[in-house]
Amino acid sequence: MEATRTLDFIREMILDDLRSDKHGGRVTTRFPPEPNGYLHIGHAKSICLNFGIPQDFKDQAPAGARCNLRFDDTNPTKEEQEYIDAIKRDIHWLGFDWGKHEYYASDYFEQLYDWAVKLIKDSKAYVCDLTAEEIRKSRGTLTQPGTPSPHRDRSVEDNLDLFDRMRKGEFPDGSRVLRAKIDMASPNLNMRDPVMYRILHAKHPRTGGAWCIYPMYDYAHGQSDSIEQITHSLCTLEFEDHRPLYDWFIEQLGIYPSRQTEFNRLNLTHTVVAKRKLRALVEGGHVAGWDDPRMPTLSALRRRGYPPAAIRAFCDAVGLSKREQLIDLARLEYHVREELNRTANRVMAVLDPLRVVITNYPADQVEQMEAVNNPEDESAGKRSVPFSQVLYIEREDFMENPPGKFFRLAPGREVRLRYGYWITCTDVVKDEAGNIVEVRCTYDPLTRGGDSPPDGRKVKGTIHWVSAAHALDAEVRLYDTLFSREDPNDVPEGGDWLDNLNPDSLRIVKDAKVEPSLAKAEAGQTFQFERLGYFCVDPDSAKSSGPVFNRTVTLKDSWGKAQKT
Ligand code: ATP
Ligand code: MG
Repeated sequence: MEATRTLDFIREMILDDLRSDKHGGRVTTRFPPEPNGYLHIGHAKSICLNFGIPQDFKDQAPAGARCNLRFDDTNPTKEEQEYIDAIKRDIHWLGFDWGKHEYYASDYFEQLYDWAVKLIKDSKAYVCDLTAEEIRKSRGTLTQPGTPSPHRDRSVEDNLDLFDRMRKGEFPDGSRVLRAKIDMASPNLNMRDPVMYRILHAKHPRTGGAWCIYPMYDYAHGQSDSIEQITHSLCTLEFEDHRPLYDWFIEQLGIYPSRQTEFNRLNLTHTVVAKRKLRALVEGGHVAGWDDPRMPTLSALRRRGYPPAAIRAFCDAVGLSKREQLIDLARLEYHVREELNRTANRVMAVLDPLRVVITNYPADQVEQMEAVNNPEDESAGKRSVPFSQVLYIEREDFMENPPGKFFRLAPGREVRLRYGYWITCTDVVKDEAGNIVEVRCTYDPLTRGGDSPPDGRKVKGTIHWVSAAHALDAEVRLYDTLFSREDPNDVPEGGDWLDNLNPDSLRIVKDAKVEPSLAKAEAGQTFQFERLGYFCVDPDSAKSSGPVFNRTVTLKDSWGKAQKT
């Protein structure tokens, strides 16, 4: 319930603003990534919201509704072009477009500087020579007011001179900052003379060496919103306490009044959604890269086979609230299954092959059996699957001494081969060590296509198979959760979050057998391997002798169920 209330609140506010013509009939939001890493599933929530709102209000906003993409690039040491490119690719993939509205906070550096000068002239900002540590200490606590800086009452002239010289590069990093002059006794710590500018002699990816002072987030963000005339600035809850400061700058400068509203971050079980931690996983070699399919980044989810529509549906379903929540990963997987059930073609693949010889089937015969591509979508059509004397079935679909409820293949028992024939096991062949290496069967020619025979016999089990002579060798990568613990940040005394990594998050099957139609499959295509799950062709297929598949998700929600028991 609460989840819908926050979204309802935002929608009501936008409607009110449209009715009162507060913004001239416009709705403008923004998505403001910092290009210091790859986007993750948490960002998807913000993207779906910020791009979704203007889509929803398109018809009610006579002057237009849109979402700007703004790179919040005020931290030159951590930001790179590679990340900018990846962010744009991922937003497009998710299904959203910013048109020509691509902006950079760094494009506003000159304007931000001019406004800082104005604040100095109005005695609303001053240059402070305290160290970062001294500033932190003099800020006070929630129960104690802060101590004013000894530089708080510098003259306007001195401040203008020092700020100008900061810009010119006369001072070393960290020696001085520009601070807003607000209230050192404010109950809100963010209002106790926050830092606006710091000295940083670093080359910026876009402005190069033009600047050696850079604005802090709190000073840059609201003013960037205002420059772009953002009507509704939707951000995560950790900025709630910063809102008075956001409003203060806009008020003091008398500029366009963008309005900030907060919603809760998305947190998912068994993974981490903070770029800092994701980077640590990449740099520490715990995963193969930002797009390792075990990662929660959008590029990894794409590679894993998650459809963008499933991610959008998940974000919608999760909704917004004013409370931090840990969302069950099974909920995301549920939407992935829903989507893939509708869209993915079915194929047959055997991950752990056991050889089956059909002794009464002609050795030189091959039949093309007709198979339905997607029972959920007639337009997906049919394909043919070759059937011949020697097949592979899944090893676990055969048991030599089965318990009563085992309805698959066993000595003397009959099963249906999907789209094939009914076969009965007559013999088991073992190697010297006693391992089963082959199963011998007979087939009933009256069951072609898997149909029931005229005598009315029944079978309970249907299993999948591939023709040994026709199957392709494939590599299949089976994934489990990246972290064993539900909340990886839940660390026992003296432990480390990395200790929660799941040592079995990846299992590679090198010798899977898949039906020959998959020879044409392209990287990024997703299939349902009948009875096994959804699998996506990995780009590594190009470097490999056969196709490489990532397991996107299993068929059954066994993981979610296991959590409950
Ligand atoms: P991180 O902690 O992963 O670095 P961030 O908030 O610093 O996240 P930004 O690039 O600054 O990352 O975020 C861009 C936008 O995405 C911001 O508006 C931010 O609030 C939003 N966002 C980031 N993480 C989440 C999340 N987990 N859930 C919802 N929104 C998020
Ligand atoms: Mg950030």
